Amino acid sequence: VPINLPYFCQHLLEELQFSDENRHQFSFIYHGKQEFVNFDQQWLRYILANLLYNALKYSPQGSTVKLLLSIDTTEVTFQVVDRGIGIHSEDQLNMFKPFYRGKNVNSITGSGLGLAIVKNYVELLKGQISFTSEIGVGTTFKLFRI
Ligand code: ATP
Ligand code: MG
Repeated sequence: VPINLPYFCQHLLEELQFSDENRHQFSFIYHGKQEFVNFDQQWLRYILANLLYNALKYSPQGSTVKLLLSIDTTEVTFQVVDRGIGIHSEDQLNMFKPFYRGKNVNSITGSGLGLAIVKNYVELLKGQISFTSEIGVGTTFKLFRI
């Protein structure tokens, strides 16, 4: 079913902001000429919420969490950007494996399952997921062609 993606994203961010106890700065940036794209709403919600929860969880209070959406005639791209703890380069190959957690998570709790499930969903939607990260600077997860 075609859904209004910018509207969907803004709505999701508002929901997360409402329950965020760490007063992050939320920002949403959209580029595109068209708004309605065919998507499975439930899956998209699951995927984006997981990435956004991670961005909130692995970044300090008050820092900025950004969601970028770009809709091209042939491609949709989402990026979730945080200014958090980052992911070590030695961890980067394993990040999507079930139960894998980064060496720098310290006392931040988690099961290590979120990204493994997200990756499966993204692939079922015929998309791709990748990320870039720098320790102490932040992480950007990118989803495309989904
Ligand atoms: P949960 O299953 O509850 O989501 P989790 O957050 O530990 O637990 P994943 O979401 O799969 O599990 O993430 C796996 C690991 O990837 C995390 O433990 C963390 O080390 C790292 N990670 C994921 N997102 C980020 C991020 N935005 N910044 C820094 N590290 C991250
Ligand atoms: Mg997680």
